[in-house]
Amino acid sequence: MGTKVVKFGGSSVADAIQIQKVKEIVLSDPERRFVVVSAPGKRFPEDSKITDLLYLCKTHIDNNFTPEHVFQVICDRYRMMEMNLGVNIHIDEDLQEIRQHLKPGISADYIASRGEYLCGKLVAAVFGFDFVDPAGLIKFDARGRHMPEETQKALSEELAKHEHAVIPGFYGADPDGNIVTFTRGGSDVTGSLVAKAVGADMYENWTDVSGFLKADPRIVKDPIPIKNITYKELRELSYMGASVLHEDAVFPVREANIPINIRNTNEPDNPGTIISDTPHEHTGIITGIAGRKDFTVISIYKNMMNSEIGFVKRLLAILEQNEISFEHLPSGIDTVCVIISNKELEGKLQDVTEDIERKLQPDTMDIYQDMALIATVGMGMNRRLGISAKLFTALTNANVNIRMIDQGSSEMNIIVGVENDQFTDAIRAIYDAFVER
Ligand code: ASP
Repeated sequence: MGTKVVKFGGSSVADAIQIQKVKEIVLSDPERRFVVVSAPGKRFPEDSKITDLLYLCKTHIDNNFTPEHVFQVICDRYRMMEMNLGVNIHIDEDLQEIRQHLKPGISADYIASRGEYLCGKLVAAVFGFDFVDPAGLIKFDARGRHMPEETQKALSEELAKHEHAVIPGFYGADPDGNIVTFTRGGSDVTGSLVAKAVGADMYENWTDVSGFLKADPRIVKDPIPIKNITYKELRELSYMGASVLHEDAVFPVREANIPINIRNTNEPDNPGTIISDTPHEHTGIITGIAGRKDFTVISIYKNMMNSEIGFVKRLLAILEQNEISFEHLPSGIDTVCVIISNKELEGKLQDVTEDIERKLQPDTMDIYQDMALIATVGMGMNRRLGISAKLFTALTNANVNIRMIDQGSSEMNIIVGVENDQFTDAIRAIYDAFVER
């Protein structure tokens, strides 16, 4: 029998009804032996996530306000869940203990981690699984950096002792036992670490969407789901904004060759998306389209630039000195452009352009601040003729003005730059050209 590690996100454990769904999912497959949970998320759009409320308690304390009323909201939610789930884990005792810690100087990581901790205890009781606290198993150094090897050793030794276990996501501890959390959304990382530690055959990541879609459903109506995607394709798409999974969750399972299956708790029969390194049957030429708005292009022209040694190096040094990272660097014989996200340039554009004028003395420099980038990604594009022609024809027919083109050397990603207000039209045009409805 194989082993699956299953991670449930905040919306999957938002209340007792959702946890009952999770129970059915887990118990319907004996291979689902290790369960990682987030803290309860939103039950409806205006609701609050428990993690946000816990951070809010910390903000109150730091500003010398009492966190009492916020903490009461948290207590009420857990008490209600305990009651509606029909278990008795004496949650009041835990809540009281946490209340004792809500004092000046309390660590944000400790307080934030309690959301997952309490949820893990509840879920373990509901399933009749062992509760395994990751503090002391997921190891961080004294400066709060995760230590992957030490974690693997401790986690695999401990989990070998359990047939079934529920492990709260998001946190571990440093050598002094202080709780340390991953960055937001970090329960995905815990799931991945657990999957690697137990040598799982599959890491199922259950959320509130049925995997990835070929395009953003807010832009394209009913986009086709992506059944299989490689890690490289995923990286390209998530860089462009298609995010379902925490970035750091990929590495541990990828290294161990464990596929990730993104699934939907509210639609458990949907097979979702499988992420793996195994080349997959393509459902089409492209795997997905994603994009982001609000980039700035700094376009520099200088006669004989191509023979001026170190020109681009000096340009990049200016960015480095101003602590700016760039996205793309398309170049021609006497021209070079840098594309930078507007956020990255905030408050720095004037300094950068003055530096460029002074140090590089370009003949002309144009700044364009309303550019969107769109990535069309797919292993299926590799070595196929006519893909770019098809893409550009589609954009031209939709009256989209292409401001930039960049085809990565991997040949599985074509990036085009268009004006912000043509972003939606461009994505729709590319989708219609490549995806059969
Ligand atoms: N509860 C944490 C957050 O809201 C971690 C997670 O859900 O993955 O960021």
